[in-house]
Amino acid sequence: MTYKVTVSHIKTSLAEGVLLCFEDITHVEQAGQIRRDFVANVSHELRTPLTAMMGFIETLRGPARDDAAARDRFLGIMAGEAARMERLVKDLLSLSRVESDERLRPNEHVDIAALTDSVFHTLAPLAQDAGVTLVRGGDTAATEVIGDPDQLRQVLSNLIENAIKYGGAEGTVTVQIAHNDSESALRGPGVSFAISDRGPGIDPLHLPRLTERFYRVDSHRSREMGGTGLGLAIVKHIINRHRGRLRIESALGEGSTFTVILPAAPRSDPSAP
Ligand code: ADP
Repeated sequence: MTYKVTVSHIKTSLAEGVLLCFEDITHVEQAGQIRRDFVANVSHELRTPLTAMMGFIETLRGPARDDAAARDRFLGIMAGEAARMERLVKDLLSLSRVESDERLRPNEHVDIAALTDSVFHTLAPLAQDAGVTLVRGGDTAATEVIGDPDQLRQVLSNLIENAIKYGGAEGTVTVQIAHNDSESALRGPGVSFAISDRGPGIDPLHLPRLTERFYRVDSHRSREMGGTGLGLAIVKHIINRHRGRLRIESALGEGSTFTVILPAAPRSDPSAP
């Protein structure tokens, strides 16, 4: 705990004394630390590809100047590093936009089953390359929520992409959708979608920190797969904005399930005039 102590001398016609004022500023300190860590992380993530690119530029200007094969290889690596920086900047912008939108209530009708089909369509090439089959199960009726369609698409994309990337080759990724009239996590009607893979799973030790910015279980593997370490932080903020819940279940050797529960859109009453 951190306290700010203010000492003042008071003197009135009745009494004279010293006033000590203790103010708990632990949360201010913590917010400052989180901000400093974030800036340090962003600088590190940007500096790594930049340093690599500067090294290759120097080599291309010098020893590899007349070596056509080396030039092509180095340019390929530099293009990969530039793409990595672009992904990072894109995710940082998404995160900042989502954070600033968090107080605004989304207000569009979004059908989760239809959105899942659309995201499957977009991710089909990625799944095909990894030999992964995408399967949708559960309800298709009453799967509407009130939300922001672009942001909910991002939630589905990030979670399904992770399941494809980390879920092991030649597997199946399932999205199970359900409507529940009485969702205990929300104390009301909810729509849930659970993204499951049968990959190597995550040690439960990591689960509480998984949605922190830049938290990775295996940094090397994440970078190799093109990850920025921001995907789940973005997911968490979007779900908060929608007043929903994220549940992560995983066990080593048994795969992972990420379940999102959102308040269901009010059902239109067919008996109403
Ligand atoms: P990244 O860009 O590294 O994928 P995320 O925020 O999306 O960042 O995920 C954070 C970390 O959580 C990943 O680096 C990975 O270690 C772990 N992770 C996420 N999804 C899965 C999954 N389906 N199976 C195993 N590990 C996962």
